[in-house]
Amino acid sequence: MKQDISESLYQKALKLMPGGVNSPVRAFLSVNRSPVFIDRAEGDKIYDVDGNAYVDYVCSWGPGILGHSHPKVIEAVREACGRGLTFGAPTKNEIVLAELIQSLMPSMEVMRMVNSGTEATMSAIRTARGYTGRDKIIKFKGCYHGHSDGLLVKAGSAALTSSVPDSAGVPADYTKNTLVAFYNDKKSVEELFEKNKDEIACVIVEPIAANMGVVLPEENFLRFLREITNKYGAVLIFDEVITGFRIGLGGAQEYYKVTPDMTTLGKIVGGGMPMAVYGGKKEIMNYVSPIGKVYQAGTLSGNPIATTAGIATLNLLIEKEEKENLYKKLEEKGNKIAKSLQKIGLQVNQKGSLLCGYCTNKKVKNYEDALTSDTKKYAEFFSYLLDNGIYVAPSQFEAMFLSDAHTDEDIDRTCQIIEDYKLKY
Ligand SMILES: *Cc1c(COP(=O)(O)O)cnc(C)c1O
Repeated sequence: MKQDISESLYQKALKLMPGGVNSPVRAFLSVNRSPVFIDRAEGDKIYDVDGNAYVDYVCSWGPGILGHSHPKVIEAVREACGRGLTFGAPTKNEIVLAELIQSLMPSMEVMRMVNSGTEATMSAIRTARGYTGRDKIIKFKGCYHGHSDGLLVKAGSAALTSSVPDSAGVPADYTKNTLVAFYNDKKSVEELFEKNKDEIACVIVEPIAANMGVVLPEENFLRFLREITNKYGAVLIFDEVITGFRIGLGGAQEYYKVTPDMTTLGKIVGGGMPMAVYGGKKEIMNYVSPIGKVYQAGTLSGNPIATTAGIATLNLLIEKEEKENLYKKLEEKGNKIAKSLQKIGLQVNQKGSLLCGYCTNKKVKNYEDALTSDTKKYAEFFSYLLDNGIYVAPSQFEAMFLSDAHTDEDIDRTCQIIEDYKLKY
């Protein structure tokens, strides 16, 4: 497989952008290869600038649940473009999209549209702080909520009592109010609440963690978070930037039947355009400007092209779920891939069309378990797949995504290619 044009573009990109990319994982650094540059994508395939086709299991890191370039989404976007790209003023489609979201996720009583998941979580946390009048927050090790200063933390040496910046450029002062608990570990959360009574504004969690590979919440973990936040008067935020409309139309909150106070959405909600949403209880969201004292704004927020792509995408998901049992079909595809990954010895965590195969023998229930995986083995496996026309995440700690556009034929071929791999520990 020739990747010469990609390579020459990469060499140029290296001079123009840090690592040649506009988001770190795209650089393929953890799999020791040069990235392929994408020319176009359609259905379940992406095509690189050298003309190679790959069955795509990254799906732009989640948004592509319908596959690429769905004709109805493209058509809606084209039509919207003809009427102007941005107005900086209210549009009807913001209401249409908000009503759609609310109908699928009733906990979103009031919401605000922003441009990225990072912005959504940052703003949701600010709102929770404004509402509670408290500064401290709890996040979980291994959960990712975007790159705002206060969230780039790692547990400090005194594990549960202090946290320190996980990025240069983040002052320790910005992270001192971020407490780090452990996923699926109720005790770590209880301890933090006991030590910081009446000081915790919110708990933010990925209801299914999908940024350390994929880690499912154990029985009752989310329910426990609901109860303990209620007990201490803290806001429970579900970061459903990945799980929203991915696990089902109502997201993880519907699937696990646990209702958060606030939710963040991104990825699928923009149908491939930059768009994210934060929202929740009216009582809390009424703290947001201009009616409340929590300031938040955005020149391109609720952008007409992005809302149009989001509406078209959500409508298609609803239609396909009603007519074809979309989410069940996605799960069956996920099951097939999961089975093949298991056959060659990977530890697989899966929920529907969201999955990860870890190069480890250990069951993965938290970040520490995920770290036991052999990333060198993963890099070799990745390279093998790429050279066979299968595009998966260039990192062990990212999820694999399936779309409605994945054909049975491509899934079966992928399974065959996986099963032909001799994985050795
Ligand atoms: C991707 C992601 C974010 C950040 O979204 P961006 O649009 O990349 O800023 C936040 N939370 C979760 C759970 C994500 O997966």
